[in-house]
Amino acid sequence: MGRSPVPNQSDATRSSSPYRAVGPNNETRTIPDRVALRVWVAAGGRCAMCNKRLLDDQYTGAEVAVGQLAHIVGWSTSPGSPRGNAPLPGEERNTADNLMLLCYDQHRVIDNATMWDVYDVDMLRRIKREHEHRIRQLTALRDEDRTTVLRVVGAIRGAGVTVNPQTVAATLLADSRYPDYSLIGIDELEVDLRHLPGEAESAEVYWSTGVAMIQERLRLLRARIDRESVRHISVFAFARIPLLIALGAELDDTTPAQIYAKRRGHGEGWGWVPDALTVDFEYVTRRGGTDPHQVAVMFSVSGSIDIARLPASVDASTTVYEVRPIGVTPGPEIISSPGSLENFTRTWRDLLSHIEVDHPGIEEIDVLPAVPVTAAVTIGRTPMRNVHPTLRVHDRVSDGGYNFTLAVTP
Ligand SMILES: [Zn+2]
Repeated sequence: MGRSPVPNQSDATRSSSPYRAVGPNNETRTIPDRVALRVWVAAGGRCAMCNKRLLDDQYTGAEVAVGQLAHIVGWSTSPGSPRGNAPLPGEERNTADNLMLLCYDQHRVIDNATMWDVYDVDMLRRIKREHEHRIRQLTALRDEDRTTVLRVVGAIRGAGVTVNPQTVAATLLADSRYPDYSLIGIDELEVDLRHLPGEAESAEVYWSTGVAMIQERLRLLRARIDRESVRHISVFAFARIPLLIALGAELDDTTPAQIYAKRRGHGEGWGWVPDALTVDFEYVTRRGGTDPHQVAVMFSVSGSIDIARLPASVDASTTVYEVRPIGVTPGPEIISSPGSLENFTRTWRDLLSHIEVDHPGIEEIDVLPAVPVTAAVTIGRTPMRNVHPTLRVHDRVSDGGYNFTLAVTP
């Protein structure tokens, strides 16, 4: 390819023109205005490879177009023209489809003869397509697509996860939303329960401190909702189930919220499992009790609960209901689609109404959850303030039994 000649003043000026394509020897070709404009706009004024902004000088901010229009298939079939021998009629070489916007450095790289095999036509077309797709997706977002991020992350039996901003951005973008971090705490998360003492031994202080931390952050959220700076909430939750039920009770139910859980067994990522089945739910009376004021609800969703292993406080005087999937065995992936969560929520709401009628005036319900994250938040969020009883939340212990952890008042 030879050494590039040192460009003289007029060449340098010309090659920085946004409407000229630049070749390996700094020769330039005029590209029709409408074609150049199309490529610049599709690329968002940014390099398709490194994403550098090409409309101005990054140090002075001076308005100098520093981008270059680069040919994917070179503009001629001569041996020195990068990828120029690829099949493409001459008249299609100066079209928007065959041009990509690049910074000077990246353009040098792809046009260097030693790199033609690496940056071949297919590779460059893919880079252009992905960059332009991303620009299109991002610039389609409107102010109302902003969502307030609430990450509630704790350890579960010693194990934790990270939810960094890249993960959040990618997850939200797939739902056509973009993140607002105005609730972030002094560290990297909104609610960080990872370093609380007593998690392993399920100490009372663990539950009470955890709930206090959630309540403190949710007060701030409610203040923002009142000022109307929050219109939608995206919850990224990974914590012990009782704390997520407490979280649900604190979440304002007039503001739409999307609960994201870490996916299991379907690759890395957060949110629903693509093409997951919609599961329906039912509630059944598993045992009639002698005292109409004693009610317990077993949620057999992510696993089956053994009615013989209930805590001693849930004795023969207690009526025991069970919420369970219809026609499928409880398992960790039962609620993997929005429809399944909706069905679960409706069943729980129906059961609460049933309890109101059949057990009037009760103040507490014992809750025994074997549920995934999304259902846990829903269990706490569904009961209505001043209408429904307090939930006495138990947590599953390693031998399959249940211990009381905390009380959640709607
Ligand atoms: Zn670049």
